[in-house]
Amino acid sequence: MRKPLMAGNWKMHKNAAETVRFFEAFAPMIARAEHADVVICPPFVNLSAAAYAARSTRIEIGAQDVFWLTEGAYTGEVSAPMLAAIGCRWVIIGHSERRQYFGETDDTVSKKAAAAVEAGLKPIVCVGERLEERESNATETVLSAQFTQGIAPLTPDQFAKITIAYEPVWAIGTGKTATPEIAEAAHHFLRARIRDRFGEEAAGACRILYGGSVKPENTKTLMAQPDIDGALVGGASLDPAAFASIVNFS
Ligand code: PEP
Repeated sequence: MRKPLMAGNWKMHKNAAETVRFFEAFAPMIARAEHADVVICPPFVNLSAAAYAARSTRIEIGAQDVFWLTEGAYTGEVSAPMLAAIGCRWVIIGHSERRQYFGETDDTVSKKAAAAVEAGLKPIVCVGERLEERESNATETVLSAQFTQGIAPLTPDQFAKITIAYEPVWAIGTGKTATPEIAEAAHHFLRARIRDRFGEEAAGACRILYGGSVKPENTKTLMAQPDIDGALVGGASLDPAAFASIVNFS
């Protein structure tokens, strides 16, 4: 009942020409993939080129971050209405790299998600534990805190527009994918938190993506889990054939 969503996070990769070449190769490979929604998130500077290259395809474009105010003296920041105006439909918020290197907190995640929804964007809000947190059995405590402080403050209407991405930090860019069972346990836990805060219908409707070294070889077993509704893909989304094979997983 939840349509799979496959989102590629390009991080700080590809220039404008490489972006256009990617779409030329990738769009025909997923033209018949009606079973899934497909999103590509390039760096800010290439969003326009990507939106233009993706016109008349099934692919939607997302940003990798956003600021929570609409305009003003905030050097270097980009607002949600600016993103919407150039054809962006999605935005990743609270990626672990932003939390780790750029001071993102659950409070800023919550403000950014609310601002994105106000501008008509669909946020993909990332949560996930670090290796030492998993090893000290703190995974559920960490996910609970990230949910309570970053997502629970949204109104039910705002929440209805968001997608959650569970991304264990130890699996991102490391080649170490969470086993389907580990990922499913975290997704199941998050869905229960959604049910507690927003109710049964919201819990049934919210897509929860898995992210962390997703590759063509492991997509099918991850997607077979009942609470895994798609993937947020870093490295493997840079290659048209690899990401197309993830999108066409079934
Ligand atoms: C990510 O950047 O969100 C990610 C999951 O990266 P990778 O697929 O490379 O682990």
